[in-house]
Amino acid sequence: MKKLFILTILSLQSLAGFGPLSDSGIRGKPYNEIIKDLQSLEEKLPNYVKVIQYGESEKGTPLFVVRLGKPRTGAKTVLISGATHGDEYLNIADRLPMFFSKVKMKKSFRKLVNNKVIYIVPIFNPDGYTKIRRENSKRKDLNRDFPLLSQNKVRLTQNETKYWVKFLDKQVNKYKLDVKLSVDYHCCYGALLFPWAYTLNVKLEPEDLMRHNQLGELMKDEIDNRYVYGSTGEILWYTAAGTSKDYYYDRYKALSVTFEGEFKKEHLKYEKHQKWWLRILKNL
Ligand SMILES: [Zn+2]
Repeated sequence: MKKLFILTILSLQSLAGFGPLSDSGIRGKPYNEIIKDLQSLEEKLPNYVKVIQYGESEKGTPLFVVRLGKPRTGAKTVLISGATHGDEYLNIADRLPMFFSKVKMKKSFRKLVNNKVIYIVPIFNPDGYTKIRRENSKRKDLNRDFPLLSQNKVRLTQNETKYWVKFLDKQVNKYKLDVKLSVDYHCCYGALLFPWAYTLNVKLEPEDLMRHNQLGELMKDEIDNRYVYGSTGEILWYTAAGTSKDYYYDRYKALSVTFEGEFKKEHLKYEKHQKWWLRILKNL
C-alpha cells in the first residue's frame, strides 16, 4: 500500500517534470570551504556580517550561522536554512549572505535590510551534506526532530537541532527580536509548503493562511510559475511531525515555509531567488 502511494507521488512528480523526492542532484564545495568564504565576507564587512559557531554536530563538526545586521529590540527577524536534509543542497541559502550584503551596500536598496536581522544557516546538516545523505551521522532525520511545544512534543534528540533551537531562543530573548519569517530550503517538488505539517486536521488561521498564500504568489511570480503552494498535507498528501516550519510557526508565530526546489536546476534560478527576496523584504 505504501509502495503504491509512493509510486503515485513519483509518477505525479514526473508528470510535472520534477524528478525524485529527495537528493537535489546539485553538489557544492566542501563544507569547510563554504564556511571559509562566509568568514572572508565577515572580514570585509565586519559591521554587517557575523559568522557564529552555535554548537557542534553529533559527529563533532562545528555548526555555523551567519547573522546579518545588528540585533536590537523589536527588530524584524528572518531565518533561512539550507541542507537540513543533507542531500537536498540547492546552492541558494549559502549564497544569500553575499546577496544581502550587496543590498546593504547599495544606497538605493539599503532600506530593505536596514533594521532587519537575518540569520542564515547555510548547511544545517553538515555531516549529511558531506556524505550526500538525507540524515545526519546518527541516521536521524533532522526535519523530524524539532519540538512542537503546543502539542507537548519536545524532541531535540540530535545536537544539530538542540544547539540551534537553544541558540536561537537565547538570541530572540536577549535582544527581544520579532521573528517574522522562516524559509527552509529543500528539494525536489517545486513547491512552497506551509504549516501544519504534523497533521491534516488543523488549518492555519485565515489571516495567517492569507499571508502564506501571498508569499506563495510572490514565489510563482518571481521564481517559477509551475510551482505550487499550500500546506504539506494538501500538496504532498502526507504528514511529517517535527519539521522546522511547524516549530517556527508554533514558537514565534512567524510566517514559516519549506521551499522545495527543482531537481538539478534550482541553483540556476539564483537570480530569481534574489528577486523573490527583494519583494519579501519589501512586504515584511
Ligand atoms: Zn527535505
